[in-house]
Amino acid sequence: MAQLYPFTDPLLAEKQPPNAMVSGEGCWVVDRSGRRYLDAVSGLWCVSLGFSNERLIRAAERQYRNLPYYHSFMGRTAEATERLADALASVLPAHINRVFFGCSGSDAVETAAKLVRFYWNARGAPEKKKIIARDKAYHGSLSASAGLTGMDYCHDGFDLPGPDVLRVGRPSYFHDAEPGEGEHDFAMRRAGELEETILAVGADKIGAFIGEPVVGSGGVFPPPEGYWQAIQEVLKRHDILLIADEIITGFGRTGAWFASDKYGLTPDLMTTAKQLSSAYFPISAVGISERVAAVIDPHAHDLGTLGHGLTYGGHPVGCAVALETLAVYQEMDLPATIGRLAQRLTGGLEALRDHPAIVDIRYSGLMAGVELEARVKASEVSAAAERQGVLLRVIDNTLAISPPYVISDQEIDLVLSVLRESIDAVVARQPLREAV
Ligand code: PLP
Repeated sequence: MAQLYPFTDPLLAEKQPPNAMVSGEGCWVVDRSGRRYLDAVSGLWCVSLGFSNERLIRAAERQYRNLPYYHSFMGRTAEATERLADALASVLPAHINRVFFGCSGSDAVETAAKLVRFYWNARGAPEKKKIIARDKAYHGSLSASAGLTGMDYCHDGFDLPGPDVLRVGRPSYFHDAEPGEGEHDFAMRRAGELEETILAVGADKIGAFIGEPVVGSGGVFPPPEGYWQAIQEVLKRHDILLIADEIITGFGRTGAWFASDKYGLTPDLMTTAKQLSSAYFPISAVGISERVAAVIDPHAHDLGTLGHGLTYGGHPVGCAVALETLAVYQEMDLPATIGRLAQRLTGGLEALRDHPAIVDIRYSGLMAGVELEARVKASEVSAAAERQGVLLRVIDNTLAISPPYVISDQEIDLVLSVLRESIDAVVARQPLREAV
C-alpha cells in the first residue's frame, strides 16, 4: 500500500486495508465490492448536498472550461473568486465584510492565527500573542492549527512548534459539571476559569481565544446555556480577539447559516470550509471583521504588502462550486430545511434517550452525538451499523451523526433504526442486562 493514511495506524492498515469508495449517489456511497452505505456523517461532516449534485458538477465543469486556474496574488485575481468573496460578505454576519481564501480548514486556522499576530503587532502590542484554546477542541492538523487542537493524539510524537497556546476546559456539561451544578452555573464557572487564566498570565500576553461554537470532533458539545455570552464578556473586558471556528458549523449545519448567529457570537475572525463547497472542492475562507480589517489593512500598506498567501487559495473552480452551493442553500431556505430535518432526527433520538445503554444525547441542528455506557463500545456499535449499511463516526464512546442536508425522512428513520438495532446487537452479545 502506497498511501500513508491520515488518522490511521499504518501497521493495522496493512492487515485491514481501509475500505475504498468508488461512487456515490445522494447520501449513499458504494465501495469497491459494490456494497452501498448511507453515510450518516456526510464524509467528514462536509458533503452537505450529497454525493451526486449535478449543479455543483456542472458549475465546476463550466469553470474548468472557462478558466481552470488563476491566483489572487500581486494585483491579479479571478472573476469567480471576486464573486464568491462578495457573496460571502453578504451571508456572513453583518460585521464581517472581508474574506481570505485557502484550501483547507487547517490552513484557514493557520491564517487566523497569523492574522492575530499581525493585528497585535499593528496595534503596538507585540507581546499579546498567546491564543487560548479548549480541551478536546479540533482546529486542524498542520502546525499552528494542531497546536491549537486539544487532543493528545494530534500532538503525540510531533513536538509541535505552534503558537503559544493556553488551555482551558471544554464546554461539556455532561462530562464536567460538578454534582448538583446547573447548566448555567457550569457555563459561569467555565467563564470564571477563563478569566482566572487571563489574570494569571496577563491580558497583555493573550491575543485571542479560539472555539468551535458547537464542538464537533471532540464529541458534539452544544454550548451550555449562557456560555458564549459569558465568555465574550470576559474577552471584551481584556481586549482579546475571538476566533469562531465554524469549519463544521458554518453554512447551515446547526440550523442557522452560522452557529455564531444561533448562539450570539460576534467573532473578530471566523474560519469556514467543509459545507462552503459541499466538499466538492477543497476551499476555505476566513471571515475578517471590520474591526480587524481596519487595523491590518494600513499595517500591510506600511509594510508594502500582506505577506501571506497560497498558490491555490481562492481557486476559481472551488469558488464557482461554492457560489453554486450558496445558490442551492438560498433556494432550499437553509434554516427551514435543516430545522425540519433536525426535528425528525432529534425526535427519533429523543425516543432513544431512555435506552439503558445510552447515557447522553446531544445535538444542534443536524449535528448529533449519542454517548454510550462505558461497557457498550461505540466502535462495536459502529461496526454493526456498517454491516447494516450505515456509516457513523466514533468519538471516544460517542457515535456522531451529521447527515447531508438532502437526506430524506425515510433515510433518517433508517439511520435511527440501524442505530438502535446495532446498540441492541452489541448489548445482546454481552451479559449487560445486570451490568447496564
Ligand atoms: N476546525 C474544525 C472545527 C474542524 O472540524 C476541522 C476538521 O474537521 C478543521 C478545523 C480542519 O479542517 P481540515 O481537515 O479541512 O484541515
